[in-house]
Amino acid sequence: MADCIFCKIAQHEIPSSIVYEDEQCVAFKDLEPQAPVHVLVIPKKHVESVLALTDADRALVAHILVDVVPQLARELGVAEKGFRVVANTGDEGGQSVKHLHFHLLGGRSLQWPPG
Ligand code: 5GP
Ligand code: ZN
Repeated sequence: MADCIFCKIAQHEIPSSIVYEDEQCVAFKDLEPQAPVHVLVIPKKHVESVLALTDADRALVAHILVDVVPQLARELGVAEKGFRVVANTGDEGGQSVKHLHFHLLGGRSLQWPPG
């Protein structure tokens, strides 16, 4: 999608610190990390948010959450102690980039509830 910063990252049109990539998704370090480990996992395809997902996206979401996130959590060293996966959605959900992304946060004790 034109003018979508995460589409541009997915297409390598703007630089990012990519930690994982396959045909369907890409994971890269957040520009403003909120924890020692803070990566964003995004579908390469433009989807605005979890609300925009359709039946056709089931395999994509499963791939990200079943395959990629746990593998990354292990590789990044946070699987054992624990981590958080967050998909901020909409304005009150705190979504600032309108391209679906899963934050993977870890490496410190995370507080609950979020602010
Ligand atoms: P949201 O607030 O939408 O849940 O999360 C968007 C995240 O994207 C924020 O944590 C922000 O730091 C990150 N971000 C925004 N623009 C860029 C960018 O150009 N590069 C990278 N690596 N992260 C970005
Ligand atoms: Zn996009």
